[in-house]
Amino acid sequence: MRIPCPFCGERGVSEFSYRGDATLQRPDAGSENALAAFVDYVHLRDNPAGRHREFWQHTGGCRAWLVVVRDVRTHAIEQVSAARGLSQTVDVQMVEV
Ligand SMILES: [Zn+2]
Repeated sequence: MRIPCPFCGERGVSEFSYRGDATLQRPDAGSENALAAFVDYVHLRDNPAGRHREFWQHTGGCRAWLVVVRDVRTHAIEQVSAARGLSQTVDVQMVEV
């Protein structure tokens, strides 16, 4: 798989590190059910086939954090953006198989 870094150009995936699901919202640590919310946030994940919105970091290059939309079935990358300044509320439709 190759990822087109917006700053460095297209590079091999070995230059990048996966940093997690870019659709999750970090729970409020001050909420009444914070412990349960953090257990869900850290350990309980859906893993649907299809499009995912993910954080990747160009650790072997410019070190920028990126938001990558890719299909995990084919590794086809649809969109890559710098993560800085992007809202996590952008909706990405997941495709169930
Ligand atoms: Zn880069």
